[in-house]
Amino acid sequence: MSTPSLLILAGDGIGPEVMTEVRKIIDWFGAKRDLAFDVSEDLVGGAAYDVHGVPLADETMAKAQEVDAVLLGAVGGPKYDDLDFSVKPERGLLRLRKEMDLYSNLRPAQCFDALADFSSLKKDVVAGLDIMIVRELTSGIYFGEPRGISVNASGEREGVNTQRYTESEIARVARSAFELAKRRGNKVCSMEKANVMESGILWREIVQKVHDEEYPDVELSHMYADAGGMQLCRWPKQFDVIVTDNLFGDLLSDVAAMLTGSLGMLPSASLGAPMENGRPKALYEPVHGSAPDIAGQGKANPIACILSFAMALRYSFDQGAEADRLEKAVEKVLADGLRTADLMGPEGGSPVSTSAMGDAIVAA
Ligand code: ATP
Ligand code: MG
Repeated sequence: MSTPSLLILAGDGIGPEVMTEVRKIIDWFGAKRDLAFDVSEDLVGGAAYDVHGVPLADETMAKAQEVDAVLLGAVGGPKYDDLDFSVKPERGLLRLRKEMDLYSNLRPAQCFDALADFSSLKKDVVAGLDIMIVRELTSGIYFGEPRGISVNASGEREGVNTQRYTESEIARVARSAFELAKRRGNKVCSMEKANVMESGILWREIVQKVHDEEYPDVELSHMYADAGGMQLCRWPKQFDVIVTDNLFGDLLSDVAAMLTGSLGMLPSASLGAPMENGRPKALYEPVHGSAPDIAGQGKANPIACILSFAMALRYSFDQGAEADRLEKAVEKVLADGLRTADLMGPEGGSPVSTSAMGDAIVAA
């Protein structure tokens, strides 16, 4: 097998800072686990705009299409707030998602025991929590036509959005969820509103069909999305993989995220169609943004980006055991009491720097 390739797009703000820590980990895997990556780096967001006048150069886009995985830091910052919409840093990320056709957005909600007190929920409700929300990312009400604000027949203004899903759009994200479930707890819960929405009726039918024909051994259940939100807060550990549409996924993944604590801890993956090697096109990134308020101060928590790399190990490089190893190291440093500033409670304490956290994880 050829050396797996990884394109790093560190971006803006704290992006490059947290990526420096990921590089330490990649180097460690090369030196200690004989697991080498063909790593290239390029610009995205404001950093690309500064050099190329666009937030994502065509050559960078082409590279992203070729590699086994892309790891992105963050884009944007106050310096770019007044730019024209067409060259805003965020447009670089949107272009990547769109041209790579990354229709399946994975947001794990995983609670490290050492941080269980951080949750707004009772400790026993979240301790040991490990669920995955799969959100459809390229269709649904955020894209459906017709849309717009216009004057209707009775002379009143009217805002319109349209929820639309085709069978193939539902089937491909369902497959993505079932594939994940096979590597995890073998359980999928599909959420929609089949009681009031036509697209929900089709969603339920197609998810069931993909299950029956291709993944009969995975346990499948269906839930209305409102009830699902309630259950997520009541007893989240009942779930393994949740698959849902773009709108409900937007809401439910934010709810699930807050079950576990800080923004600085949350990784994500966006997956597309399988490539020739059978693995999906993929972009991994922390959920947090460029955090301009703390950029350049060595305060950023690198764990979200490090856990995003762990997801890449698992889903793009077929290195599940090494991903476990990395996640265990994160767990260990947290159990040892190491905290970046964002992980300090109101009682305070002495936080460690971005690079001290990275070093500790490498050592662990
Ligand atoms: P974007 O629009 O890019 O999503 P945002 O303004 O919504 O950005 P973030 O940049 O994610 O949000 O930052 C929100 C808050 O969380 C900020 O106060 C920031 O300092 C904090 N924060 C975000 N990421 C981290 C991190 N990795 N470590 C520590 N604090 C963080
Ligand atoms: Mg934001």
